[in-house]
Amino acid sequence: MDKPKGFKMTAQRRVILEELRREKSHPSADELYLRVRRRLPDISIATVYRNLELLSENGMIRRLWEGSGARRYDGTTEDHYHVSCEGCGRLDDVPLAAVDGFLERARALSAYDLRGYRLEFYGLCPACRADFENDRI
Ligand SMILES: [Zn+2]
Ligand SMILES: [Zn+2]
Repeated sequence: MDKPKGFKMTAQRRVILEELRREKSHPSADELYLRVRRRLPDISIATVYRNLELLSENGMIRRLWEGSGARRYDGTTEDHYHVSCEGCGRLDDVPLAAVDGFLERARALSAYDLRGYRLEFYGLCPACRADFENDRI
């Protein structure tokens, strides 16, 4: 995605963005901080937080809905769906094409001024499923 007007891409922001896009697990700021620190040993957690917020305000990354637990970030800005693990909280992408006209159909049925929607699948990830099956033997 292009850089929005008036947004300054500093060296720190570039590293944070690169590390987030490389990471498919939708990390929290704390998790991302540990990765970024390997490349920028002097960076503080507060700087990582602040830059993640700035990047998401500028539409270069996505801030994921905070249910329970820490706020997570997504380097993929195109519409896509997520699946969360009820066992360990892991969050992955589901490569399912967005449903055409879904939002428009909901708008026709709701008095709200709908701006978007979130759809999240849930279940057990492969690791948790294996644990679960081993426990039953
Ligand atoms: Zn799991
Ligand atoms: Zn995602």
